[in-house]
Amino acid sequence: MQFKQLLFALALAALVACQPIEQTQPPAPSVKPLLSVPLAKVIENPQPDNSAWAQQQPYVLMISLDGFRWDYVDMYKPKFLSRFVAESARLEGLRPSYPSKTFPNHITLVTGLYPQNHGIVANDFYESELQKRYRLKDREAVRDGRFYKGLSIWGLAAGQGMRSASYFWPSSEANSPAFAPSYYLPYDHHGDHMARVEQIVRWLELPPAKRPHFINLYFHETDTAGHHYGPGSAELGETINQIDKVLETLVRRLDALDLAINIVLVSDHGMTPAPEAKRIPLVVPAGYTSLGNGPNVQLYPAAYKQGDYRQSAPDPEQALAQLNQAAEHHRCYRPEQAPAPLHIDKARRLGTIVCVAEAGWSLMTRSKKYRALSPGNHGWSPLEGQDMHGIFYGRGPAFKPGFVHPRQDNIHVYPLLAHILGLNIEHSIDGRLGPMKALLK
Ligand code: AMP
Ligand code: ZN
Ligand code: ZN
Repeated sequence: MQFKQLLFALALAALVACQPIEQTQPPAPSVKPLLSVPLAKVIENPQPDNSAWAQQQPYVLMISLDGFRWDYVDMYKPKFLSRFVAESARLEGLRPSYPSKTFPNHITLVTGLYPQNHGIVANDFYESELQKRYRLKDREAVRDGRFYKGLSIWGLAAGQGMRSASYFWPSSEANSPAFAPSYYLPYDHHGDHMARVEQIVRWLELPPAKRPHFINLYFHETDTAGHHYGPGSAELGETINQIDKVLETLVRRLDALDLAINIVLVSDHGMTPAPEAKRIPLVVPAGYTSLGNGPNVQLYPAAYKQGDYRQSAPDPEQALAQLNQAAEHHRCYRPEQAPAPLHIDKARRLGTIVCVAEAGWSLMTRSKKYRALSPGNHGWSPLEGQDMHGIFYGRGPAFKPGFVHPRQDNIHVYPLLAHILGLNIEHSIDGRLGPMKALLK
């Protein structure tokens, strides 16, 4: 077994040992775009062609609508998505992992691991062993492969002779063989929607040996509008309608291809109102520095902020006592003593102390500018109410149309994807196929 794992690791390393190469657009003479849009540059990780076996496997496109709450389709009734949902096998809701933030959960979806096991425990954290801060806005940190643990679905596919592609997904740019799609694009918050549609179609029109069998695609707009205007707002409805049109165009184009394509529509978390009246001032204890604000705050030794990772935190027990004194709507913990259902007991990167606010309540450290008064937010425990829950809709040859299944945890999405693609999982993960199997034909 160990020898096999070593062989696998070596094979993967050999696959992606060379630097990624910038690719001009793959020639696709048969493509007849509906719109002529300039495409963004795709980067190719050198990986072998699809094996003869892989070429016989189905296709899966997983699309994420960031922050799309489980009840938005019922609430807003977008024209295309309402039809799509009716044709899909769906979960009543997809429970995110804690914290219900973007990076931790997108990476759970593509690894089957809780954030503490894939390593990206927050959108922003200090890592004392690497002596480095990770932040989603820091391109260099996001690309540093040392932060990521586990084997992504792209790495799993590559190891079994199958090509994959990613049009924006947290961790897809990591410099790590375990996180290398065959094709990917660097994140562009303002990237054109129709260019995404066109690129996905072009990938699926590549010759069978080059064509990616697993593809993912990401849209941030539903999260952004949810923060700015709040769930239930007319503006969020407008945004959903815009994305609805993009998805309709994409799915029409895909349906016109003669391929067995499964479309999985997911989100990383939901959204809930974060009212002014539910703000809790949090005084950072002396000798500590904090990251995060709102649903959760992480506390580290103050010297980390200056890049000095040798210090340990002063008297954590006293700091905890101070933080929890008269706490009515939050609780601070050493991560290893946090409630088991949060699955953060091994999340050393969350800091010496992590403070967890009650659903809807926002912790505000004095030193930080709070993400100013945004009416919507997420990050709270998925176990308190359902507002943090996202969506899972699966449409295509693998899924039972019109089937509804109870809420499940998002760690189980990865084994489902692997099963549909015919990939074997031989390493240890947190998710299981069992809870999702009923969705499949
Ligand atoms: P948050 O709401 O703070 O959990 O994060 C949402 C934000 O993550 C979005 O508005 C995007 O700007 C950002 N984001 C999503 N995917 C990526 C990515 N692959 N690289 C960098 N930033 C991303
Ligand atoms: Zn998100
Ligand atoms: Zn967000």
